[in-house]
Amino acid sequence: MAPVDSKALIAKAEAIAREFEYTAEDVRKGVKEFLREMDLGLQNDGQPMTMIPTYVTSVPNGTEKGVYLAVDLGGTNFRVCSVSLKGNSTFTLTQAKAAIPKEMMTSDSHTLFSFLAQQVKAFVEEHHADHFEEFPDHHLQLGFTFSFPVDQRAVNKGYLIRWTKGFDIKDAIGKDVCELLQKEIDALGLPVTVAALVNDTVGTLMARSYTSPGKTGTLLGAIFGTGTNGAYVEKLSKITKMTKPGANIGEYDKSTGEMVVNTEWGSFDNELRVLPNTPYDQELDKMSVNPGIQMFEKRISGMFLGEILRNSLLALKDSAGLFAKADIAADAFLHTPWSVDTSALSFIEADNSEDLARTKQVLEAQLHVPAADISIEEARAVKILAHAIGRRSARLSAVPIAAIIIATGKVQPPPQPRPVAAKTDEELEVIDIGVDGSVVEHYPGFEKLLREALREVEELGEKNEKRIRMGVAKDGSGVGAALIAQVAAKMKGIENK
Ligand code: BGC
Ligand code: MG
Repeated sequence: MAPVDSKALIAKAEAIAREFEYTAEDVRKGVKEFLREMDLGLQNDGQPMTMIPTYVTSVPNGTEKGVYLAVDLGGTNFRVCSVSLKGNSTFTLTQAKAAIPKEMMTSDSHTLFSFLAQQVKAFVEEHHADHFEEFPDHHLQLGFTFSFPVDQRAVNKGYLIRWTKGFDIKDAIGKDVCELLQKEIDALGLPVTVAALVNDTVGTLMARSYTSPGKTGTLLGAIFGTGTNGAYVEKLSKITKMTKPGANIGEYDKSTGEMVVNTEWGSFDNELRVLPNTPYDQELDKMSVNPGIQMFEKRISGMFLGEILRNSLLALKDSAGLFAKADIAADAFLHTPWSVDTSALSFIEADNSEDLARTKQVLEAQLHVPAADISIEEARAVKILAHAIGRRSARLSAVPIAAIIIATGKVQPPPQPRPVAAKTDEELEVIDIGVDGSVVEHYPGFEKLLREALREVEELGEKNEKRIRMGVAKDGSGVGAALIAQVAAKMKGIENK
């Protein structure tokens, strides 16, 4: 290969980076389309952005109490925990975590769910043996955090709509995942009842509301992790698909006039009306287990950003000779789908050193290009791409947040000729948002970039962006599942022991 022209390399990297630009105008268009798809999903079954009623009709206020089990099947790990809610906005949590074996993600439902039940067994035997001795007939109540779209029909019943994030277990589609888990738990003879089915976003919303109760409670729980999604508090009167004649719905408490809705925004704009669609996005979609769906998620979340980077690195290699000294083995890695982990983007973004030593190290670790064979210009070029991809992810993430704030009436209407009813700045309330996930937690400056885009939305501007309080709901899905198990158990008159 001819010696690399480093100026041309950087210029080419900058050109590719521009393909990832997501302008203020794009953000505004995105918000508009998001509002349209929210309405579609609230009014009709079977929409791509599913807007799932969760049967959770209130958010906690911090006074909830008791000991509950929670299990969390996310994108990467399986977690079992017990949560002791203290009733004063605090809790203690004991947990065990196991990586989900990759081959299990595409196995069959018995294989997966019996593995989960085994983990529950090991956990309760280690941590709750005394409970079973003391109260042999009392079942521990368990909240099941299941981070995939389900057609929820009761607080403890939900039929799997589709898998996401690399899972593909065909025989589970259409089944009630609570029942699948309960069956395997029963087969092991465990005195444990699956009391609630909870999406991780709902768990995050509940946990945030429990730990930081304000005057108005938390509006939105959002995950920017392996996948992305959000759940928010909606007026029952707006979820018209639940009250349509013939709607197949279960019982729920109507007294609050509200229900938490799991948007499943990962499938926002599957039709690509407004989403950016670079050749690198297209290549990724083609190689995924679910082409054509979760199109928003595929531009934002941890499962995918590494792969977008890999695709763009390949383009830079082909057009400008990136990694000129890389040998055949490294080349093979670069040509292997999913070989770049999203954590690489976070490390590279964080590397502000002169010599980009950390960036080179990461490339060596993940792509097996020896650090010594990477020139400073090559490292710089990679950093330009990694930054552009992370930035686009953060700016895209502003779209659903802005749209939900607008849809729920949290912003003032645009200035009227006579601003009689306008609230003063002091009167404007905090808009509380709970977030969780590896991308928002570990990608440097993610929230800052996201907020920049929020300010560009006319209805929000700087004034409303400042009202947004965003905080990581640590252990959110575990605590949230416990909180919902608590509500569900209380409704059935089950006492906590
Ligand atoms: C799933 C959601 C989940 C999100 C974050 C998405 O792929 O469809 O149900 O909340 O990932 O884990
Ligand atoms: Mg998770």
